Amino acid sequence: MSVHRIVVVGGGAGGLELVTRLGDKYGRGKDVQVTLVDRSLSHIWKPLLHEVAAGVMDTATHQLSYVAQANWHHFEFATGEMIGLDRQAKTIRLAAVPAAADEGEGDLLPERTLPYDTLVLAIGSTTNFFGVAGAQENTIALDTVEQAERFRRRLMAACVRAQNAAETPVAASASPGVQPGGALLSPPAAQRPKVNLVIVGAGATGVELSAELRNTAEVLRSYGLRLDPRKDVRITIIESSPRILKALPERVSGAVAGLLTKLDVDILCGDSVAEVRPNEVTTTSGKVLPADITVWSAGITAPSVLGTLGLAVNRLNQIEVLPTLQSKTDPDIFAFGDCASCEWPEHGFVPPRAQAAHQQASFLVKAIEARLKGQSLPTFTYRDFGSLVSLGKFSAVGNLMGGLIGGSMFIEGLFARVMYTSLYRMHVAALHGVWRMMLDTVANRLRRSTVPRVKLH
Ligand SMILES: Cc1cc2nc3c(=O)[nH]c(=O)nc-3n(C[C@H](O)[C@H](O)[C@H](O)COP(=O)(O)OP(=O)(O)OC[C@H]3O[C@@H](n4cnc5c(N)ncnc54)[C@H](O)[C@@H]3O)c2cc1C
Repeated sequence: MSVHRIVVVGGGAGGLELVTRLGDKYGRGKDVQVTLVDRSLSHIWKPLLHEVAAGVMDTATHQLSYVAQANWHHFEFATGEMIGLDRQAKTIRLAAVPAAADEGEGDLLPERTLPYDTLVLAIGSTTNFFGVAGAQENTIALDTVEQAERFRRRLMAACVRAQNAAETPVAASASPGVQPGGALLSPPAAQRPKVNLVIVGAGATGVELSAELRNTAEVLRSYGLRLDPRKDVRITIIESSPRILKALPERVSGAVAGLLTKLDVDILCGDSVAEVRPNEVTTTSGKVLPADITVWSAGITAPSVLGTLGLAVNRLNQIEVLPTLQSKTDPDIFAFGDCASCEWPEHGFVPPRAQAAHQQASFLVKAIEARLKGQSLPTFTYRDFGSLVSLGKFSAVGNLMGGLIGGSMFIEGLFARVMYTSLYRMHVAALHGVWRMMLDTVANRLRRSTVPRVKLH
């Protein structure tokens, strides 16, 4: 009997859980070969990226090597970015993998093809700049660890520069009240340079990032940065909708807005960004906001490669799938997570969330088993368990959904925080099992006593 080759492209929140479970199920046998393809060499759970950007999460302790996971869970790993598909030959095309500067000359791996019998696409989403002038060039998106780390380094640099500028005496010969002999005067406190951080988009990412940044400013102050964390570090969120967190219930949105106001986060709703320049953001109403760093978290779109594969896609390039999660064009190809458009009867479409990717990964283990046995495929039903928004150490707010609690229940504070962190724990448990997840939790708690609260280098 020939081997059935399952290829999963994308080892993110959904793909890595799927391939881990498929590897555990089939990897030791001879009939099924499971392969993960990812353009990166390691995985980090995407909802942690705003914490990486704010410096409160050290990537080194939360990144997982695909090669190691493949070894532990009996699947193959192929590194490379998927750039094409040949549905007749049933192969995918992977781009050449370039070598890093210190890895010698020439590509590390050439462009190559990989055959499949069942293909699962889980390549997530990327930032949607909506064609706004200067947005792509002058903002930082939070799609990858590299971008989050780049933001953190820029933040540290902006704080150091602002402190230095505030403490460097300026020549005041042109100013009124110059001291005799051209002595140097410090500028008035009100004119001190500040760190201006602008976040475009008040969805969960933008809102959570703003709270973490306020925390980071306070921690940096306690480590000796001589800037007032409230007055000198200005954080502004711009949102085109009339309220923040427009996808969540009004009560959650109102509670979060109240907490952010207490944290001195400026919220500018009902205004859109018209243009982004290297150091300022202009809104359609004509406001010009100084911006040392601008973060773009205003929406997502699926990777453009999906529009080139000959599969049915929607206007965001998401692959249109049936309730079985098979492509509407090709039954040998499945898609799920952020890169798929799956109908959610009476609500529209399954939202691009980690909890949806997690549920779909669990569903696909069963669907692929049915496919391998030649049985008819089950259909996916999304269950919304609610939404939680973390404001870091300050609080968490959200709503829980479900039949047991009779609809929707508003939660806030410690309970909401515990529920929020349990989402990540569930992901770690799906990758390593419950016992290792518990050990990992304890190890991270212990590690906190020997590492700074914000990553400083
Ligand atoms: C800052 C932030 C906070 C968030 N917070 C929450 C939250 O609190 N709750 C929640 O439910 N959701 C949250 N989300 C959304 C959540 O992260 C996504 O819905 C989820 O990660 C989607 O999972 P996925 O498996 O579809 O894609 P991803 O997790 O994005 O994984 C995609 C994978 O595909 C790989 N890849 C991409 N293109 C290619 C290619 N061409 N070839 C090979 N590999 C490729 C990538 O390297 C990546 O490993 C947040 C997102 C962000 C950015």
